[in-house]
Order: sequence, then structure tokens, then C-alpha cells
Amino acid sequence: MSPLPATYSLRRGNSPLIVSMPHVGTDIPEAIAARLTPVARTLADTDWHLPRVYDFLESLDATVLVATQSRLVVDLNRPPDGSSLYPGQSVTGLVPVDTFHDEPVYAGQAPDAHEIAARCRDWWQPYHDALAGEIERLRAVHPRVALWDAHSIASELPRFFDGRLPDLNFGTANGAACDAGLIEAIIAPVRAQSDYTWVLDGRYKGGYITRRYGQPDQGVHAVQLEMAQVIYMDESAPFSLRPERCERLRPLLRACVAAMHAWAATG
Ligand SMILES: [Zn+2]
Repeated sequence: MSPLPATYSLRRGNSPLIVSMPHVGTDIPEAIAARLTPVARTLADTDWHLPRVYDFLESLDATVLVATQSRLVVDLNRPPDGSSLYPGQSVTGLVPVDTFHDEPVYAGQAPDAHEIAARCRDWWQPYHDALAGEIERLRAVHPRVALWDAHSIASELPRFFDGRLPDLNFGTANGAACDAGLIEAIIAPVRAQSDYTWVLDGRYKGGYITRRYGQPDQGVHAVQLEMAQVIYMDESAPFSLRPERCERLRPLLRACVAAMHAWAATG
């Protein structure tokens, strides 16, 4: 049996900042890809281009964990037991069987429980082992560690929310995932501008990663940013980056991430 391809790329930094990008992957094992519907194969629900949007992380000496496999293989920001992140609201699952536009992902048989368990073992677990390991490595040398979970999503998705999503959606699990002073520091640059709309703990409050690893009493503080994709890219295929939008956004994004870094580094 050939070895499995890597499920993530990792840049190890020494500052107390970790950035996770669990939904940017576009790789799909051939055996899975062959079963997908044509619309699923467009990978429309990817958090496109985030490594390019966040091109400043090395200058903060951040540790950066980037998924290489598509969320259609297994969703790294869902609990491994398959429970819902937002009970009572529409969500896609641990191994999605429908797209954000409610189209079927599989042309034939959807994965059964056995296959879902195997995907968790092969694809979900390695990412989380790496993330937990990096948090532990940095926590051993820093009194507090900050985890930024980076996401983006189409700005209009009737399945999930009415109307247009705010541009910047910060999530802290309603304050449970991080110190109140940290989120205030992060959103200070956002409060000071009027180019982008924003919300704290609105429709997106932080997924599994934010909730699982954000343990303020253990010195680990997590924040999720869900960005409306329209502020940096085209939301229809081929999902191209819009460099002028990206350059307009980046100073604000950098100010927010740098505020998180500074807060953790002075702990
Ligand atoms: Zn995402």
C-alpha cells in the first residue's frame, strides 16, 4: 500500500502565534474524486487563497498549519463524533454529502460510517495531532499562546444565512475561547475603520478548532475569522483572487493578526 499523501503543510515559528487554515486544501485522493458529482469537483466551498491573503505571517514568526486536502475529504473544523456545531441550523457535516448550495457531493453511494471513520483516522487526526503538538511546543516556552483559525466563505449563501454576510466575522465561542482583552485588541483596528463591515460572535462563532483549542485557563486563546470572500476574490468559478481587493484588505487584516501576536507576546 502506498503511503498517504501529507494532509497539511507546517511552518514552524517561534513566536506565540499559530495560524490554522483547515479549509484551504484542494487535493482529493483519486479514489474519492472519482465518486464526486461534477459540481462537487469544482471545490466551490474551499476557503480560497488564504495563504496568499495572509502573506505576512512569516514576518510575525508565526507557526502556520495549512490543510492540503479538500474539506470534502473530511472537514477538519468539525467534531470527530459528527455532532452539529450549530444545532437547529443548517450545517455541512464531518464528511460533507451536500454542498453549500445544497447540491449532492456524491454521484453514487455516500460514505458509510466505516469510511467516515477511516477518513478521520487518515486525514482528520494528523492535522489535529500537528495542531495540538504545535500548541504544546509553543506553550512550553510562552505563558500564553494565541491561535487564529482563518476561514472565508461566499458572502451570500441562503442555506446558512439571510442576505449578505458581514465582511469580517470574528468568533470566540461567545467569549469562551479567549481572553476578553485579546479580542478587544484584535478588533480595535476594525472599530477604527469604516471600509469593512464586521460582527463579533454573529452567525459564525468559531468552529470545532476554536472551541476545542481555545482554553484561556490553560494559556491558549483562540479566535476564528470568517471572511466574506467578495472582499478579496471572485465568488464564482474559477474563483480568482482579485489582487487590488486583496491589497486593500491586507493592512487591516495584518493589523488584527499583529494585535493578537503582540497581546500574546507580552503575556
Ligand atoms: Zn472555512
